[in-house]
Parts: sequence; C-alpha cells; structure tokens
Amino acid sequence: MKSAKIFLAGAGSPCLFVLWVTIFLITVIHCTTQGQTYTEGGEGHSHLKGTVILIRCADPRINDACTGLLDPDERPVVISNTGSIKYFLVGDRLSDLYGQIRLLVHKFGVKKLILTNHTHCGFYKELALGEEAELADLRAVKRRLLKDFPEVEIKGYLIDTEVSVSTLVE
Ligand SMILES: [Zn+2]
Repeated sequence: MKSAKIFLAGAGSPCLFVLWVTIFLITVIHCTTQGQTYTEGGEGHSHLKGTVILIRCADPRINDACTGLLDPDERPVVISNTGSIKYFLVGDRLSDLYGQIRLLVHKFGVKKLILTNHTHCGFYKELALGEEAELADLRAVKRRLLKDFPEVEIKGYLIDTEVSVSTLVE
C-alpha cells in the first residue's frame, strides 16, 4: 500500500496514473500489431511486408505525385536527393546507391523499387540538361538495377512537375 502511494505521488494524481496506464496499454497493443506484419525471410532476417524503396528528387513540388505512386498498403523507404538519380550519377556515387539498396533489400525483404525523375528539375537545369537526359538516366539506371536485383520489381516514372502526373518509363 505504501509503495502504491509513493507511485501515485510520483505519477502526480490518480487521474494521471490512469493516463499512464492507458498510454502503456496503447503502446503494448501497437507493438503487438506491428509485430504481425513481420515475416521470416529466406535468410532468417525479419522482413517487413510491403516495403518499397522510392528514389526521388528532394523537390517538394513532387510530394503529391510521389505519394500517388504508392499503394495504400505500401511502406516507402525514401532515398531523396537534389536531382534524384542524377545526384548519384554525376558524383560517381552509384556504388553508394547500390550499397544502400542492397542493405534495404536484405534487411526488409524489399520486392519493389520505384525510380523517379521529374520535369523542370533544378539539378538537371544547372547541368544544362532537360527532359531527354532525365528519361535517358531513368532508363539506364533501371536497366542496371534490373540486372543487379533480379528479385526486385523496378519501376521508373517521369513526373510532370507542373501537373503532378507520372508517366511509366519502360
Ligand atoms: Zn529535382
């Protein structure tokens, strides 16, 4: 009884105590529910269902279009840079990108990767490049990714920045 009194005093008031218990229970329920989405992968890792890698430019004008590329039950792991894939191409950082993808594929059992570029990208503009280069880069990186990650579905999209419409690039 004495310890209960001390605990209550520490919590502030009986009302606060009820609040703490409620928060605790919500946390337990949340963790249990989250746990159900994990399945065991072939290599014994915990895989998170519906995890999708989304590679995009940091430009906030394409936020809505990027959200529109995801199904409601997909959880995006976003790799965002100024210039999207061009950031990796000009700096010869493609091996860094592949390293990140490899880790995510193994850790989360990623089955799908969405590669994007967008029209009127400031990064391409600074390099005096436009839509043609954006499309060519999308196709080239997609081809390489398909070769290196045959188990992953790779989709490439060119986002029209002005109207927030995405076009699938084959
Ligand atoms: Zn951009």
